[in-house]
Amino acid sequence: MLKRKKTKIVATLGPATSTKEVLKGMLDEGADVFRINFSHANYDDVAERIRIIRELNDEFGYNAAILGDLQGPKLRVGVMKEEVFVNPGDEIIFATGERFEGTKDRVYMTYKQFPQDAKAGERILLDDGKLIFEVVSSNNVDEVTAKVIQGGPLKSKKGVNLPNTNISQPALTEKDIEDAIFACSQQVDWIALSFVRHAEDLMQLQDLIKEHSENKIPIIAKIEKPEAVENIDKIVAYCDGLMVARGDLGVEIPAQEVPLIQKQLVRCAKKARIPVIIATQMMETMIDSLTPTRAEVNDVANSVMDGADAVMLSGETSVGKYPVQVIKQMSNIIKSVEDSPLIKVPQSPPHIRTKRYITKSICFHAANMANEINAQAISTLTNSGYTAFQISAWRPSAHILVFTSNRRILTQLNLLWGVKAFYYDRFVSTDETIEDVNKLACDKGYLQEGDMLISLAAMPIHEKGMVNTLRVTEITKSSM
Ligand code: PGA
Ligand code: MN
Repeated sequence: MLKRKKTKIVATLGPATSTKEVLKGMLDEGADVFRINFSHANYDDVAERIRIIRELNDEFGYNAAILGDLQGPKLRVGVMKEEVFVNPGDEIIFATGERFEGTKDRVYMTYKQFPQDAKAGERILLDDGKLIFEVVSSNNVDEVTAKVIQGGPLKSKKGVNLPNTNISQPALTEKDIEDAIFACSQQVDWIALSFVRHAEDLMQLQDLIKEHSENKIPIIAKIEKPEAVENIDKIVAYCDGLMVARGDLGVEIPAQEVPLIQKQLVRCAKKARIPVIIATQMMETMIDSLTPTRAEVNDVANSVMDGADAVMLSGETSVGKYPVQVIKQMSNIIKSVEDSPLIKVPQSPPHIRTKRYITKSICFHAANMANEINAQAISTLTNSGYTAFQISAWRPSAHILVFTSNRRILTQLNLLWGVKAFYYDRFVSTDETIEDVNKLACDKGYLQEGDMLISLAAMPIHEKGMVNTLRVTEITKSSM
């Protein structure tokens, strides 16, 4: 039988992925979710790309999901007039107010409240932390004077991180609001928010989505600020997925602390039974080369073993030379480790007397039972996708086959570990429906004669209520 990978790949769109052929190649090699990075997106391009991806889904039976990623309160310096190189000990002014072209003495900063929020001694990191400054003083109006601690070339529009400053910028900037409204109009499957600090940031985005989209669009909180790590329990309760955004996280906190935070965040997500994406520099070398480093191969493999639902590619697919090959190599790494019995994803059974306890409990036991009886698949009928989240979080060795008449979730669920969704709209009787679904699973190549299958359903079936029933079937010739 065909070996299918369960850990998902998120690929960022960009100039390197502008044609239908390349996108098709990426899907064929195992891309599951396409990310739009709104830091660099033009609406017409994005709309066209989404159209092509949906066309590929229809033509070739894929369920590729679209993830719209909002840049959040990302800070940047302005455009520089000339090449500037700063040296330790130099002083430089970060100015807000009117935009101007930067020089060795004065650079523009996009964060209006900076002079009010900055305090002497706080650090200013530029260009992924390559340049380090320390605040000397602020005039409290429009200028902050800083001293260079670690020098280097100061380039136009580079990102600024202020790990110690209590930033007063709103979680959703004007640009984010516009981008989110556009994302809603395109009915993307997921929306991610960068630089989340508190649960309130997510509530604001939820309200905005409610206002502009008929359907719920689930939210991914990108964890890349120390405040987010501190507030993680509350954040997890207000989002539908996490991203370990190691690029900015490794600047905002010392990079050597990222590995354990990655493990902590995966654990949090698994406990909440929401998906978690590991992002940034996973296959960085493949931006220019056909061979990843051993360290990169290990990083992807270890992320899978930590329990990631998905691993993400950024520059590798958006601007890299090998957007298709990098997916192929990543798929190969995933396939060679993900079924290892060495992987133990942390588990604690659902608590009694929580909301939807019956469904949660059935999903938990279905996953365990599937391992015990060596079932090849767990099938579930769902309208909201809730059971897919629940089963996936337990990481059963069986495939999770979701049957739904809700077309919206066919693509949405494609981010979840081990989940494959199919359209199904004949809800007759439990017996018939389960037989139908089993037959479909056989047709799609997930099951063969002699295999065990666990089917979950809500009885009575026509009510489309919550899952409350588990049935075990051994596939025989007649059921195929
Ligand atoms: P970004 O997020 O690529 O949008 O910055 C990911 C990260 O920071 O790691
Ligand atoms: Mn980031």
